[in-house]
Amino acid sequence: MNPPSQKSLDKMWNYARKFAEKSGTGFSPMKEVTEAVIQGLASHVDELGKPLCPCNFYPDKAAEVQQRRWICACDEMQIYKYCHCLLFVREEDGLPITEYLPEDHEGRQIYGVTKDPTPDKGRAMRDRSDADIRAWYEEVAAAHEEPAAT
Ligand code: SF4
Repeated sequence: MNPPSQKSLDKMWNYARKFAEKSGTGFSPMKEVTEAVIQGLASHVDELGKPLCPCNFYPDKAAEVQQRRWICACDEMQIYKYCHCLLFVREEDGLPITEYLPEDHEGRQIYGVTKDPTPDKGRAMRDRSDADIRAWYEEVAAAHEEPAAT
């Protein structure tokens, strides 16, 4: 991934600060984590015109942009308030919020149940039906399986 332009870096820092405030999340105490994700998002703005999540593998980035589900703030954040990149986390300990995730989601397996300190904020897509969410989750999991090495 190429180094991002200053313009895109500024844009993504501004966006991330505003979204953290709006969603009741914060940034990691480890500044280098936040900086790395912002850089990745900004590089995608330069490359694709959109802040595609930098923490996934995409077989076709342009097609993924069209789908919109991994444009920051991604569907997973808007439904579950879970950021697997650790950009939007609990400010006190830098952990992602996992309490709304399905029990078999990898975030639950990695971090256990971490409570949302601001349940009145964020989760703009929280009203999607369980069936819709499950279908989305399975589709995304399948789409992001890395191709087998040959
Ligand atoms: Fe943004 Fe979602 Fe990636 Fe977190 S996981 S940086 S909210 S796109």
